[in-house]
Amino acid sequence: PPFQAPFDPEKKTIVILGSGWASTSLLKSIDTDLYNVVVVSPRNYFLFTPLLPSCTVGTIDVRSIVEPTRFITRHKSREVKVYEADCTEVDPFNKTVTISDNSEIKGQVNSSKVPYDYLVIGVGATNQTFGIKGVQEHALFLKEVWDAQKIRTRLMDCIETAGFPNQSPEEIDRLLHMVVVGGGPTGVEYAAELHDFLVEDLTTWYPELAGKLKITLIEALPNVLPAFSKQLIDYTEANFKEQNISIHTKTMVKEVHDREITVQQADGSLAQMPYGLLVWATGNTSRPVVRNLMSKFPQTQTVGRGLLVDDWLKMQGSNDIYVLGDAAASKYAPTAQVASQQGKYLARLFSKLALQDELETEVYALSDIDEKARKLRRLEKVRRNIKPFHYSHQGSLAYIGSDKAIADLPWGSGNVASGGVATYVFWRSVYLSNLFSIRNRALVATDWIKKNVLGRDISRE
Ligand code: FAD
Ligand code: NAD
Repeated sequence: PPFQAPFDPEKKTIVILGSGWASTSLLKSIDTDLYNVVVVSPRNYFLFTPLLPSCTVGTIDVRSIVEPTRFITRHKSREVKVYEADCTEVDPFNKTVTISDNSEIKGQVNSSKVPYDYLVIGVGATNQTFGIKGVQEHALFLKEVWDAQKIRTRLMDCIETAGFPNQSPEEIDRLLHMVVVGGGPTGVEYAAELHDFLVEDLTTWYPELAGKLKITLIEALPNVLPAFSKQLIDYTEANFKEQNISIHTKTMVKEVHDREITVQQADGSLAQMPYGLLVWATGNTSRPVVRNLMSKFPQTQTVGRGLLVDDWLKMQGSNDIYVLGDAAASKYAPTAQVASQQGKYLARLFSKLALQDELETEVYALSDIDEKARKLRRLEKVRRNIKPFHYSHQGSLAYIGSDKAIADLPWGSGNVASGGVATYVFWRSVYLSNLFSIRNRALVATDWIKKNVLGRDISRE
C-alpha cells in the first residue's frame, strides 16, 4: 500500500535515515514548523558511542548511554514520524526510499516505500574486514549495543570454561588470551577497559585464573593511535607495557580461524596465535544501502569509502540528497564530533532553504515590478547567506586504562597534548556534559559510583 504522509501537504517532507550522531543532532535542531519530518532507523534510539567500550566489561550499563529517539522528537513543535526499519534502497529518480521491518516479529506488512522531497543519509558505516577470511564468522566487533553485550558474554564464557575441571594448561592459556585487532582508538579503549576489569575485579573473583589472562593488541602500522600526537602515542604504549598489555605493531592479521589467527609479523614471517576472544576494530567501510546508491551515480560517486558530497553536504550528482557523518566520504575523520556538527549545520541550512522557497513563491506571485525587485534582492541575499559547512575541532580524547586518559587539544594555532589521571578527570567531565540528557548523565554518574563502591558485575549476560 502507498505510504500515507500523515501531515501538512503544503510542506516539503524530509526523510532522515539513521538515529546516530549525525541524524540525532539534525533532529534536535530542525524546525518542524517548516517541514514534515520522518525518521527511519533500524534502532529506535541514539547510542552515545564514546562510552561503549566501558559497557564491554560492565563499567557502565548500556541502558545508561542510549536515548530513545521518541524522547527527542516529543520536544518538537510538530509530530515527527519515527519508523524502526532498515532503509534497503534509495530511488533517487522517483524520490522514494524502500524501508523494511527488520524485527523478529513480522507484521502483515514488512516493507513500504516512503516518498521524500529531501533525503538525509546518516546511516553511518559498517565494520571494515578487508575481506580477510574468517573475520565475520569468528571475530566480535564493537559498534553497537549488542556488540558490547556479546563481547561481555564471550569474555565471561572464556573465563568460566578455562576454570572447568581438568582443562589442559595450553587450553587455559588459549581461552584466556584476549586479542584485539586494530590499534585505533576503539581497539585501545577496549584493551584499556579489559585491563581494568582484570586488575580491579577478576583478580578478586578468579584468583587462580586472573594471573593467566593475557591481552594482546595487534596493529598493522608502526604505532597505535596514528591520529594522536607522537608524545601521546609514546605515553600510551609505555602505559600499556606497564599494564602488561602486549602491543604487536607492524603485524597484520591474514586469516582468522575459530581458535587461532594467522599473523604476518614485522619480519614478514607468518605465525599462529591462539585466542579465546577476538575483538576486531580495524575501522569503517560503507553500508550496503550506501554502496547501492553509489552504483546509481557511476559518474560522480567514485570513492568506495562513502558518498562524496559538496561543501554544503549535498551528495555529488543529486539536488535533494544530503549525506552526514560516517556515511560521507569527506575530508573529515569519521568521528562523532564531525557528525554532530554536520547535523546542526544541516538543520540551519534547511531553515534557509525553507525561507528561500517561501520567497521564490512570493516573487512568482507578485505583479508589481518594484516589489518583485525588492523581493528578488532579498532572495539573492538569502542565497548568498547559505554558507558551506565549517568544522571546528574541539580536540581528541581517549581512555588508556588505570584511570588515565590522553587528550590532544587545539590551542591557538597549535596543539596541547596531555595524559594521565588529571586528563581522565577531564575526560569524564567532557563525556558527562556531552551526554544527551539529564537522565543519561544521572545514570552514567551512578554507574561510575556503583563500580567504585561495589565493583563490576561478573555474571554472564
Ligand atoms: P552512527 O552514529 O553509527 O549512526 C548510524 C545510524 O544509522 C544508526 O542509528 C543505525 O542504526 C542507522 N542505520 C544503519 N543502517 C541503516 C539503514 N539501512 N537504514 C536506516 N538507518 C540505518 N567519535 C568521537 O568523536 N569521539 C569518540 O570518543 C568516539 N568513540 C567511539 C567509540 C566507539 C566504540 C565507536 C564504534 C566509535 C566512536 N566514535 C567516536 C566514532 C563515532 O561513533 C562515529 O563517527 C559516529 O557514530 C558517526 O555518526 P553517524 O551518525 O554517521 O553514524
Ligand atoms: P581506525 O580506523 O581509527 O583504526 C583502525 C586501525 O586498525 C588502524 O590503525 C589500522 O592500521 C589497523 N588495521 C587495519 N587492518 C589491520 C589488520 N589486518 N591487522 C592489524 N591492524 C589493522 O578505527 P577505529 O578505532 O574503529 O575508529 C573509527 C573512527 O572512530 C575513527 O575516526 C576514530 O577517531 C573514531 N573513534 C574515536 C574515539 C575517540 O576519540 N576516543 C574512539 C573510538 C573511535
